[in-house]
Amino acid sequence: MKIQKHDGCLPVKPFGLSRHVLAAPSWVMPGSLAENCRFLAGRVDEIGLLFFESKACLAYTRQDLPPDLAALPLSWHIHLPLDLPWPNGRKAAEIALRLMEKAAFLGARRAVLHPPAAENANALEGFIREWTRAGRSPASLLLENTAANDLTPCLPWIQNHGLGFCLDFGHMLLYGQTAALLRALPELGSPAMIHWNAPGPSGGSAGHGGLNSLSPAELALGRRIFALAPKGSVMMAELFDWRLFEESFPILRAWDLQTAPAAARGLSAGLPL
Ligand SMILES: [Zn+2]
Repeated sequence: MKIQKHDGCLPVKPFGLSRHVLAAPSWVMPGSLAENCRFLAGRVDEIGLLFFESKACLAYTRQDLPPDLAALPLSWHIHLPLDLPWPNGRKAAEIALRLMEKAAFLGARRAVLHPPAAENANALEGFIREWTRAGRSPASLLLENTAANDLTPCLPWIQNHGLGFCLDFGHMLLYGQTAALLRALPELGSPAMIHWNAPGPSGGSAGHGGLNSLSPAELALGRRIFALAPKGSVMMAELFDWRLFEESFPILRAWDLQTAPAAARGLSAGLPL
């Protein structure tokens, strides 16, 4: 084996974080899902498979999800569809469970779920019943704050069933949810995942912007939110453009170094920010 010379610093992946799992979505450039995943292997730790459309994703074949993806040095989670048939929680869960099975060969166990709209929050009951009946843990289901639900209506289910949650920073800013979410944090618990993006020029999820478009006040809030995430949580730069990912990553790394314990900071000293 050839040993490369180095300057004394530990080798670190170009886009790694010291205490968190760095993730990217399965769409960062034009191309197939498999092409995107192969590109991301070695660049990030985990991929969030974007199963946004129920019908199209249920129809995925071995060509769309080739078996050799399992050999890539990656962990995986699934972003469940945005068009689930709420308020029918049972039916929504059936679709979600079929999609989980499709990606089972990758070892994906966790899923991000856009909950039903606030007024239909009780539809979660049926969803969770089916999910756990299939042998899946409530903690593997991460509810995300969306335009239609800032998660506070979901608190009874999050607390009673031990569901996880995924904080979408861009949604939080875009939909004016900061105060409500910060107030609810003691009941929500720690975020298992954070989606990092800035409210984009076109608004909505399609307009996810890079972190360098955040204002100084938003950056200060981002750093505070970053520090809330426990060790081992997933930091997903939810940007659908690799250029935006590359531009945003230094901000995540800076927060990582600022919020890491002194020992971890020492190991990473000298790395370019
Ligand atoms: Zn998100």
